[in-house]
Amino acid sequence: MDVVRIQRAGQALQLKGRVLVEGQDGSLLLQTRDGVIWVVQADELRWRDQDTAPFAPLDREALGQRLLAQLPAGFQLHTTDHYVVAYNTSTAYARWCATLLERLHRAYFRFWEKRGFELRRPEFPLPVIVFDDRADYAAFSRDELGEAASAVIGYYNFRTNHMVMFDLTGLAQPSRTRRRRFSSSQIRQLLAQPGSERNVATIVHEATHQLAYNTGLHTRYAVNPFWLAEGLAIFFESPDLKNASGWRTIGRVNRFRLAEFRRNASQRAADRLEQLLTDDSLFRNARTAPAAYADAWALTYYLFRRRPKDFAAYLKEMSKLEPLEELTAKERLKQFRKYFGADLEQLDRDLVRYVGRLR
Ligand SMILES: [Zn+2]
Repeated sequence: MDVVRIQRAGQALQLKGRVLVEGQDGSLLLQTRDGVIWVVQADELRWRDQDTAPFAPLDREALGQRLLAQLPAGFQLHTTDHYVVAYNTSTAYARWCATLLERLHRAYFRFWEKRGFELRRPEFPLPVIVFDDRADYAAFSRDELGEAASAVIGYYNFRTNHMVMFDLTGLAQPSRTRRRRFSSSQIRQLLAQPGSERNVATIVHEATHQLAYNTGLHTRYAVNPFWLAEGLAIFFESPDLKNASGWRTIGRVNRFRLAEFRRNASQRAADRLEQLLTDDSLFRNARTAPAAYADAWALTYYLFRRRPKDFAAYLKEMSKLEPLEELTAKERLKQFRKYFGADLEQLDRDLVRYVGRLR
């Protein structure tokens, strides 16, 4: 194991883990045993050594204790086969989340196995934080990710590997003055209502990001094309309100994204596909993001249905990106064309026709 001492914000820290990347300038990307990745600048580094113990991820118990140490008082742990949920809301709600996540975990592996795509099992237990209260969640997420995070109801942080969210039954309650604690069957009913559909979809979406980064589909700290990371997460999210957990399966037509896709179809630029493949800022800008997310879903859906073998081969190549690796726009296009052909405008016309016919 690598051991480093760093000086950060006036504090001396000792970190034990494994170095993932060493920069030429002396900076480091170091992963600690809880799965957190530290970006250590050269001028923060004070001392570096190795100890004889091999690197080993923390087990669920130890990871849970580390989570609790980072959170305000009052959090408890709920542990399942693959997840460690730290929560300060009701145990019934933590269980509801964990059941949904385990269900996704199973479906996720089954989905890829069926397509002959070999993924690795997550090396670290998957950490999840559930706040009881939206304001506490917002304060925590602001520290981690800035203002943007508090505008959404949950997120995956690829630095810490945490998935962070809050109790959605709070959103589903008309009065915020007196919070009620719900039983598990009440939680299921509440979150199976149409008004909760997008919220449940968001949890599945973020949990898919976490799985993709923990099973070798994407590499943390590589610059993965947004359309691909987002397209996959949206492909998996499709909610199903007839099911008790609000979600049943992967890859159903995503009504919400399809409606958005249709709204924009008449003004679609001929080079839209090229834009999507190369310009990640489309996803970051509030004005262009809804259309970009809808198009990322449409492209992913189309490739899974019409070009499954090529798409699997393309995904395999993209999964080999190294931490900090970034492809130029030209390289992205070259790679995409290698699997799907040179004529992107023709491909886009096929895609629009195919998605336009979906019911
Ligand atoms: Zn996303």
